[in-house]
Amino acid sequence: MTDFLKHAQELFPYTQALRRDFHIHPELGYREIRTGGIVAKELESLGLEVTKGVGKTGVVGLLEGGKPGPTLLIRFDMDALPIVEDTGAEYASQNAGVMHACGHDGHTAIGLTVAKILHAHRDQLKGTVKFVFQPAEEGLCGEDVGGAQMMMRDGVLENPKPDMALSLHLWNEKPLGWVNVAAGPIMSGAEQFSIKITGKGGHGAVPHTTIDPIVAAAQIVTALQSIVARNVAPLETAVVSVTAIHGGEAFNVIPQEVEMKGTIRTFELKVRERVLARFNEIVTGVANSLGCAAQIEVKRVTPATVNNAAVAAKVQATARRVLPESDIDTAPYVTMGSEDMAFMLEKVDGCYFLIGSNDKERHLDYGHHHPKFDFDEQALVRGACLMAAAVMDILS
Ligand SMILES: [Zn+2]
Ligand SMILES: [Zn+2]
Repeated sequence: MTDFLKHAQELFPYTQALRRDFHIHPELGYREIRTGGIVAKELESLGLEVTKGVGKTGVVGLLEGGKPGPTLLIRFDMDALPIVEDTGAEYASQNAGVMHACGHDGHTAIGLTVAKILHAHRDQLKGTVKFVFQPAEEGLCGEDVGGAQMMMRDGVLENPKPDMALSLHLWNEKPLGWVNVAAGPIMSGAEQFSIKITGKGGHGAVPHTTIDPIVAAAQIVTALQSIVARNVAPLETAVVSVTAIHGGEAFNVIPQEVEMKGTIRTFELKVRERVLARFNEIVTGVANSLGCAAQIEVKRVTPATVNNAAVAAKVQATARRVLPESDIDTAPYVTMGSEDMAFMLEKVDGCYFLIGSNDKERHLDYGHHHPKFDFDEQALVRGACLMAAAVMDILS
């Protein structure tokens, strides 16, 4: 039997060099020109059929196995964040104000390493591996949709149509050696909302001649807290957070309008529907009761990321076999973060798993999106090993 861990370890210098190169040259969503160029070149050097420009800067590579079989999509995100890096690492970002602070540099390097491993075993593969290197996971990046949806718009789920999908994330909340592969929901669905409360402005000294949108906004913020406290069952999960509130300029002027922004996070469809309904009722009801008008806009950012039980069970079996020394956690590890792989997993059964990557002793344990974020690069070996082995197990 192939020793995937050994193979991934042998390739570590390649993986690490790629990761550090991507880290030095981070690119924001839909600007992954250099990164995507390297990805395409590496995949082409293995003889894969490569398509560039899928979802603007996304890259797709097809590896045909020696025998016919299903198509398995494996997805790696490539984008960085608008953060000023503060790691002091020798491979720190040279692109001012842009940083790989989520580990997507590692994901891209893992993807290319997996391509090398699977290419070496292509004769044993029964089916096709569709490598998907995705732009703009971290947000819309100036477009109307993020990278997963943009690639889907460009047909990434067709020709060939994937039967299953896998993806992973390095996970700095947990130490190197921890791996989570679980069935069911893993990341929450996210909505972003904006609210405009319109009243009637006037002099701050004669409030009775105005309709004060600030008073209404304050009561809306408070009333919204009752959704999670009183409309969501104690064992269900939801978040409603008002994260921005803007209104007024002067100490003696009651403004005409107040604008608010925030986010709603849920896992289950029925909870989502109930939370959204209550959200609308409360905002409109409270605003109207105080004489104001409310304009509400809710935009779905991502659905919840939900793992298929059968696919998760296969990846769990692979993890136990190829990473026997690991702490393999198969309990649902749900986070209120969100992930646009959810759009692909809504259409294709799959599994999204987490690879522990922190090392507290070396202070490589800052959270994702922190300016000092960095991880133990040995996690790259484990990620590449598990992804490659899971593909081989599924397509054999
Ligand atoms: Zn992130
Ligand atoms: Zn991320």
